Amino acid sequence: MALSGIQIYKLLPQTNCKECGFPTCLAFAMKLAAKQVDLALCPYVSDDAKEKLSEASAPPVRPVTLSSNGYEVKAGNEVVLFRHEKTFYSRPGLFLRVYDNKTPEAIKAKVAPADEYEVEYVGIKLSMGGFVIQANGGDLAAAVSAVREVSHRPVILLGDPDSLRTGLEKLKGEKTLIGLATDQNWQAMAALAKEFDVPLAVQAGSTDEMVALVEKIQGLELKDLVLAPTQRGFEGTLKANTIMRRMALKKNFRPFGYPIINFPGDVGDPGLELMLAAQAIGKYGSFIVLDHFKPDTVYPLLVLRENIYTDPQKPIQVTPGVYEINDPTPEDPVLVTTNFSITYFSVANEVEGSGLPAWLMVADSEGMSVLTAWAAGKFDSERIAKSIKTFNLAEKVNKKRLVLPGHVAVLSGELEEELPGWEIRVGPREAVDIPKFMKEVL
Ligand code: SF4
Repeated sequence: MALSGIQIYKLLPQTNCKECGFPTCLAFAMKLAAKQVDLALCPYVSDDAKEKLSEASAPPVRPVTLSSNGYEVKAGNEVVLFRHEKTFYSRPGLFLRVYDNKTPEAIKAKVAPADEYEVEYVGIKLSMGGFVIQANGGDLAAAVSAVREVSHRPVILLGDPDSLRTGLEKLKGEKTLIGLATDQNWQAMAALAKEFDVPLAVQAGSTDEMVALVEKIQGLELKDLVLAPTQRGFEGTLKANTIMRRMALKKNFRPFGYPIINFPGDVGDPGLELMLAAQAIGKYGSFIVLDHFKPDTVYPLLVLRENIYTDPQKPIQVTPGVYEINDPTPEDPVLVTTNFSITYFSVANEVEGSGLPAWLMVADSEGMSVLTAWAAGKFDSERIAKSIKTFNLAEKVNKKRLVLPGHVAVLSGELEEELPGWEIRVGPREAVDIPKFMKEVL
């Protein structure tokens, strides 16, 4: 049973010493009840109270991290079912699967391009999470060596306990996820996970079977588990993931309080795989196993993930300031935009693509796009004029030409008054039309 803030408060020292970083024990208790802080922040909790509080203070979805050679994929630690309620924290990792019955050359040829793939999206670097190496009648240890020759990213090992041991021996010191523990092999799998101190993925066909199996493994004091429902289709996966996550968050149901691994790659068809992966990103998958890698299919998945795992209350922003594009001189124009990342990158990419030099002045609009910022009073003539002065643009240019986004053409009159000596031009509404505008009008 989850404890209320008041119930937790009664178990705290009630001295309001502030060492936890909160002004009162009650404030700390409220945060604990909301599962937003760690009980360990209070150094004065008695052992007796600790025991009682451990359930209340544990996150509803246990954090599980895979790591190797400086790379990390963090999973779990989510507190809401819908990102608009607060935010999602742990971006799901995309894992490309290889099988151990392939030659080392074939494995390396599949892994290397996926490992090297990195793409920048609104200033954020996106890449694959890691690789799954699955036993399939071959040599798992040799397959692990082949993967490690071309990638240092985290690994998930799938197979029987004996082959897993050979693979784990090669990955000592790394946090590797192993699986799949089933009703038939769970004792041996749990023993292996304990011995190598790695997380264990647990597979069951129905939610009831999952509960029974997880409870048996929890009884062995294994803490880092991952849930692997057997469902593979759209409806089955959606139902299984949603039921488990809902029970974990709404009922604090411990057997489901773990990250989830999904296997869209199992469907075989690359198109269906892509759609199932998108569904898993949207609905509670933490480790997403793919069998195909192509930049043009992985890119939309990574962008989708970014959009879902961005805090809706904190838009992605760039630092306000003056950005020089294509080596501008004092004769070149000043374009103005807002500091919402997507707006900035759309404009900057178009200006750069035009090959023409310009000064891009990014005003602080608190991370909002042009129209939203204008409607909210965060991108008006006063703010733009203030930014021009703050960033000393008058000293950077001789020809004082300032181009406003077309959506805020209405500001041009006021801006002329705010900025005497500047010629105010109204640019296009859409970033895509900027190169044509620069070539023909400026
Ligand atoms: Fe209360 Fe502990 Fe925080 Fe001190 S550190 S204010 S005792 S909760």
